[in-house]
Amino acid sequence: MTPWYEVDLSAFAANLRRIRETVTPTAHLLVVKDDAYGHGLEPIVTAAVAEGVSWFGAFDVDTAVAVRDVAGPGAEIIAWTVVDDDDVDTALAHDIVLGLGTHDLIGSVAARCAAVGVAARVHLKIDTGLHRNGVRPEDWAAAVSDALRAERAGALHVEGVWSHIAEASDADDDAAREAFVRGVDAFDGRRMVRHLAASAASFARPEFRFDLVRVGAYAYGIRPSGGPSDAHLGIRPIGTLVAPVVAVHDGVVEIAGGGLDGIDSRLAGRWDVGTPAGARRLREVGAVTSAVSHWPGAAVGDEVTVLGGRAPGSATDAAERLGTIGEEVALRVSPRLQRRYR
Ligand SMILES: *Cc1c(COP(=O)(O)O)cnc(C)c1O
Repeated sequence: MTPWYEVDLSAFAANLRRIRETVTPTAHLLVVKDDAYGHGLEPIVTAAVAEGVSWFGAFDVDTAVAVRDVAGPGAEIIAWTVVDDDDVDTALAHDIVLGLGTHDLIGSVAARCAAVGVAARVHLKIDTGLHRNGVRPEDWAAAVSDALRAERAGALHVEGVWSHIAEASDADDDAAREAFVRGVDAFDGRRMVRHLAASAASFARPEFRFDLVRVGAYAYGIRPSGGPSDAHLGIRPIGTLVAPVVAVHDGVVEIAGGGLDGIDSRLAGRWDVGTPAGARRLREVGAVTSAVSHWPGAAVGDEVTVLGGRAPGSATDAAERLGTIGEEVALRVSPRLQRRYR
């Protein structure tokens, strides 16, 4: 017997509706990096399309193509990592928008498009303070002018401008927003799709929404550590790690699932799991099995909810114990575990 990861697609749909209600009239893009935050790309995209989501964001072009295969020709799909000309060709073949984050990349993508005679749709990314990826403000005017020149030459369609913010401090985010607005000004009032906010700012800071928000965490019910509650946000975790009982000993119940499956051993002794008799303490976490406090009538095959929407505590609750963020706990759930959809 092995644990599995249960994904509640109706909870996912409810989160999407909550996001839409909150940010409307702004459109929202569903971020599906890391296999839809561990929930499985294909079922997640299928459910999102059924809920009317029309924008998707992927880290790499291959994932963007996988989204295209599921979402069909009507979806707008952005990939924000371009490695080589193959990526450009693939993006052109599948109508993927490229989110370009360096001046060099603007040049190399335009060159490839000129060579093949097809214009790529691009959103240009300005660095507004995270210093990870994005054209530096001092180089922005030159990058924009090169991109627009490539557009006039038929190599690019410059459709959007974007950036990414830390969402850790309002003051830093405010400074980033100002830098973003200055970046948008470089387009002299021409209509662009402007996007800056991820989950937290899209809910908390309406002035950060612009034309599109990029939401990952909240769609999957992952709230920020130390931040507002699920109830306050109106979202709930869609994934639950479920482990069957494999043995019943005196005073302790052994469940399938341990560190190798993604249960953090630091939770031992300070985390409650859900059993048919209510919450019980997680006592020990081994590599492949773990120990839970006994309950009367415990039997092999009983289901124990370790973490997530149906468990006593969510990924972010665990993250708060561990001093990390919910995404890290959720993404630790092993990709090898079966995903079950309900
Ligand atoms: C991950 C990511 C997001 C989504 O962030 P959440 O906080 O999970 O909503 C948005 N934009 C980019 C560029 C990202 O990498």
